[in-house]
Amino acid sequence: MKAPPFIYHRPDSLDDALALLAEHGDEAKILAGGQSLVPLMALRMGRPAHVVDIGGIAGLDAITVGDDDSVTLGPLVRHATAERSTVLAEKAPLVHETMPWIAHRAIRTQGTVLGSIAHGDLAAEMPAVVLATGATLTATSIGGERIIAADEFFEGYLDTALRSDEILTAVTFPTWAPNSVGSVTEVARRHGDYALVGLALRLDLDGDTIVDAALAYFGAASTAIRVPDAEATLVGSIAGPDAFDSAAQIVAAQLEPPADIHGTTAYRKHLAGVLTRRGLRTATSKIGVLA
Ligand SMILES: Cc1cc2nc3c(=O)[nH]c(=O)nc-3n(C[C@H](O)[C@H](O)[C@H](O)COP(=O)(O)OP(=O)(O)OC[C@H]3O[C@@H](n4cnc5c(N)ncnc54)[C@H](O)[C@@H]3O)c2cc1C
Repeated sequence: MKAPPFIYHRPDSLDDALALLAEHGDEAKILAGGQSLVPLMALRMGRPAHVVDIGGIAGLDAITVGDDDSVTLGPLVRHATAERSTVLAEKAPLVHETMPWIAHRAIRTQGTVLGSIAHGDLAAEMPAVVLATGATLTATSIGGERIIAADEFFEGYLDTALRSDEILTAVTFPTWAPNSVGSVTEVARRHGDYALVGLALRLDLDGDTIVDAALAYFGAASTAIRVPDAEATLVGSIAGPDAFDSAAQIVAAQLEPPADIHGTTAYRKHLAGVLTRRGLRTATSKIGVLA
């Protein structure tokens, strides 16, 4: 199928793009890498009257490191660029580690990290990474910028806190502490497919004691989701099988993943428990806390 008719805009400045959004509001959609928007339009699941292509705006593809070692990505940083970035590998290792899990190489050369976050697919990796790292999102309109905390950004199925006149202009990943470890793990039918269920996690450790935990699941609810009770059971515990089992049991009991033709709710609950143990083991084994 072909997309329904629309008016295509290709502004060459951010101000012009924001002015177009201010004018056309709910009728307009930003086009970044097009890897989600174009298929949705072709399937007629999205029918924007105006498409605002930001691909011609210079300077939106920067990866910058702050004085505090936080890392900020602009809206035209492609997945493939992030995958090759030595800066991300060093300063935001969880983001870097996630890239090969996202789709296939050809899609990663076009798709953008911020597009993935703005789209907010329930089975996408990046929203969960945003939650696990406590990243902040910068939304810009002609009225100015506002900063949105990770926990307030994802509101439901393909729904975020972004307003229709706003562009997501930055994601900032906070300083990755020396005592932090993380992992991304998922189960998909084939590598590169959207996950049936996945987990992005971060632990902060003091020796082998867990002092902070963020467990963020994808494919497990209408949007990426944390499980605070499982995180709470980890905090104060010694990193090891007993703590990991307790967390996994809470996750499998509390999550209610949606069912579809690829998996029932019960199967996905089971996977979420399995991935909890696996993800925690993978993360802690990176610094030799757990054999
Ligand atoms: C076969 C296939 C498999 C895939 N598998 C995966 C997968 O396993 N994991 C995964 O995470 N993704 C997967 N994707 C999606 C892919 O990663 C997309 O690139 C990504 O979801 C969106 O990035 P994009 O730049 O292409 O966004 P676009 O398609 O251009 O836009 C997506 C949506 O976000 C909005 N948007 C984009 N950028 C901004 C912005 N800066 N500000 C405001 N709104 C914005 C658009 O208006 C649109 O609504 C897959 C895609 C395909 C076709």
